Amino acid sequence: MQLVRQKRPSSVNRINRGVAAVLLAAALGTACAAEGAGPPGTGAAGRHGGQEQGGQERGGQGPQAPQARPRTASGALAAYVERFRREHAARAAAARRWGLRRTPLLPPDPPKVKPEITFRKGFEVGDPSLPPVFTTVPTRDRVVFLTIDDGAEKDPELLRMMSELDIPYSAFLSDYLVKEDYGYFRRMRDLGVALHNHTLTHPYMPALSYAEQKHEICGQQDVIERHYGKRPTLFRPPYGNYDSDTLRAARDCGIKAVPLWTAEAFPDRMEWREWDRDLHPGDIVLTHFRGRGDWKGSMADMVRQAMDTITARGYAVARLEDYV
Ligand SMILES: [Zn+2]
Repeated sequence: MQLVRQKRPSSVNRINRGVAAVLLAAALGTACAAEGAGPPGTGAAGRHGGQEQGGQERGGQGPQAPQARPRTASGALAAYVERFRREHAARAAAARRWGLRRTPLLPPDPPKVKPEITFRKGFEVGDPSLPPVFTTVPTRDRVVFLTIDDGAEKDPELLRMMSELDIPYSAFLSDYLVKEDYGYFRRMRDLGVALHNHTLTHPYMPALSYAEQKHEICGQQDVIERHYGKRPTLFRPPYGNYDSDTLRAARDCGIKAVPLWTAEAFPDRMEWREWDRDLHPGDIVLTHFRGRGDWKGSMADMVRQAMDTITARGYAVARLEDYV
């Protein structure tokens, strides 16, 4: 079965979840207030619906929820539960089709206000006004972010897989690889993926002068704007290596933040930065556009490994640009 893609599936789902949370809360609130005087089954249906979501809807809205008219709420709730059941079945089918062990968890609604990003401790270069270098987004949401670097492997299967699974990711592109096929990343952009800056030629930045570093970063800003219509706001230095000139150059090229990573995904394993070898809310996961020539598997194998790890540890993948 092919998933029918909605034009903006993530936003639509999020809006639906927002509406549904109110409806669920209203139905539960009504049932509680009426102590059994409401329409039979409303409360049970609400709780059952909540369980079916696997704990995805946000808690804490019940007591503040407005009291809806029971008939309206239960009708809309039933429609929502049915719709959610269908969407969940489609997501589970996509996960099975792509060989994932578990159905990926849905992320919560994006934050209304983006968190303030600051330098990770020990990653500062002296001037706190420079674009912050960080590895984890400050959030309590049980989400992580998937970022894919360089651009060597241009696997059409990856585009299909991520679309059908509806998993967001961000690409950090280096022109010396991307220029082999700008069209591949245009298709990626058209699927809603944000394209960010990873320099023109992927050099070890601290070995370069300020002017050379600025050329690497501003030059890639120009390339991405020329081919994809938008100047990135995020920059990742090759190998994660930078100095104060790198961050000054990034700032002078219009970069707002410099996300690094806490974990790196391969087809056969994860590599960890943190001592506990685990994921944490807001962690950024790095991987690469690589194929069988570079590592033990395909892009799809890498996604399977990464998603099985992320889902098994109770995290959803959220969109980095919703938080940063
Ligand atoms: Zn790289």
